[in-house]
Amino acid sequence: MEDCIFCKIAAREIPATVIYEDDDVLAFEDLNPQTPVHVLLIPKQHYHSLSDDIPPEVLGKLFARVRTVAELMGVDERGYRVIVNKGDDGRQTVFHLHIHILGGATMPISMGPAD
Ligand code: AMP
Ligand code: ZN
Repeated sequence: MEDCIFCKIAAREIPATVIYEDDDVLAFEDLNPQTPVHVLLIPKQHYHSLSDDIPPEVLGKLFARVRTVAELMGVDERGYRVIVNKGDDGRQTVFHLHIHILGGATMPISMGPAD
């Protein structure tokens, strides 16, 4: 999709530190990491958000690769947190579906609303 930053990363039109790639998905380091390990995992095909009509096999392939990324980043054993932000209340800022994989530190217990 034109003017989508993650489509441009998937097309290698703008740089990113790529962790994993196959025909369907791409994983790359977040530009503004919130934890020692912070990787974004995207379908190469453009979907706006989790509310799109996404074929189950696309979601399946995407989520199946979370473990792959976690293993490559060395956090699979200790664990990690997976977040998908959707819309304004979810604080989605890039409108190409992506999974945050956060690790390398123990996450806060709270996942409640901001103050
Ligand atoms: P979200 O708020 O869930 O939409 O998250 C978007 C994420 O994309 C943020 O964590 C940003 O730091 C990250 N981000 C934005 N632009 C880039 C980029 N060019 N390369 C890597 N990560 C990016
Ligand atoms: Zn896109």
